[in-house]
Amino acid sequence: MLNGDRLLETFLEYVQIDSETLNEKNMSQRVASDLRTLGLEVWTDDAGASFGSNGVNVYARMAGDSPSSPMLFSAHVDTVKPGNGIVPIVRDGIISSEGDTILAADDKSAVAAVVEALRTVRENNLAHRTVEVIFSIAEEGGLHGIKNADLSALTAKKSVVLDAGGDVGHIITSAPGQMSFEAHITGKAAHAGACPEEGISAIQAAAAGIASMKLLRVDHETTANIAVFKSEYPTNIVPDDAHIMGEARSHDPQKLSLQTEHMKKCLEDACDKYGAKLTCKIDTVYRSYRFDDDDPIVTEVRDACERIGIEPKIASTGGGSDANVMNYRGIKSIVLSTGMDAIHTKSERITVKNLTDTARLCIALMTGGRA
Ligand SMILES: [Zn+2]
Repeated sequence: MLNGDRLLETFLEYVQIDSETLNEKNMSQRVASDLRTLGLEVWTDDAGASFGSNGVNVYARMAGDSPSSPMLFSAHVDTVKPGNGIVPIVRDGIISSEGDTILAADDKSAVAAVVEALRTVRENNLAHRTVEVIFSIAEEGGLHGIKNADLSALTAKKSVVLDAGGDVGHIITSAPGQMSFEAHITGKAAHAGACPEEGISAIQAAAAGIASMKLLRVDHETTANIAVFKSEYPTNIVPDDAHIMGEARSHDPQKLSLQTEHMKKCLEDACDKYGAKLTCKIDTVYRSYRFDDDDPIVTEVRDACERIGIEPKIASTGGGSDANVMNYRGIKSIVLSTGMDAIHTKSERITVKNLTDTARLCIALMTGGRA
């Protein structure tokens, strides 16, 4: 039933449309056109304008008549760099790039699979639930597309976000939330040779604060990292400013805020000790989510996997995706793997089998049958 050759062709065409984050215009237009050709109701938004993208989030609906509740299929059309001029090659059932770029299986394997699943359902007049689609922009580097998306016209209350590595069948039921951490430490400048006792070293205070922080692997579900430490002065000046940036993640929202408060407290104590001043900015980047293994949406996906002979595997992730935002905004969302491998590198690859299995799983979820 599934046309594997056509799926592969669609995927190879999609990856050759340049769509690095903020430059998704051509890819947005292409998927909107492909969905319209299938007779779906298609609409877009102007979310991209608010964060400097030329692309648009693309939404679509295929009204259904099965008693199953509507389901949203989600994927993103933007890619990381280097993602321009991708030359895909297929060898021994594995698709990779010629080597100077990523492949963009993240996340065009999902986009192609959803489009081909819809084609299959249409062509074969398969009974199906109401299927909704969102192809978002600017997922990479901050989830900006979905954060600015207008979800109000969608009717689905549950979603599968096809955007993870691992063979098809992995069901990601838990993802951490993330908070950003930024601080300025202000000391007092003085001549380092003539009168250093009149100065307050921002570097000394900042370093003492960071040294007292619990960082990296904090516990089994919490991580933290300081990644920016900026301060540069001539050696004869006591430095009066230091700038720090970092992040914390946890699957547990309470632990997440405790961790960022802890990081702030460490800097506060160090600043008190050295007489420096602290300004600190802590922001939520995205929120965590967690589903029980027997949650209805997990059960539904697991059943669909089993119907098509794929072993379902419950997993968790350390990264964020559009699912984090949609869960917070009221659409119950879990993440599914598409088989994309070595993502965000020039060695990125995916097997033709995983690409095909992703489409088969979509068809099974859309129709409640096999594929
Ligand atoms: Zn992705």
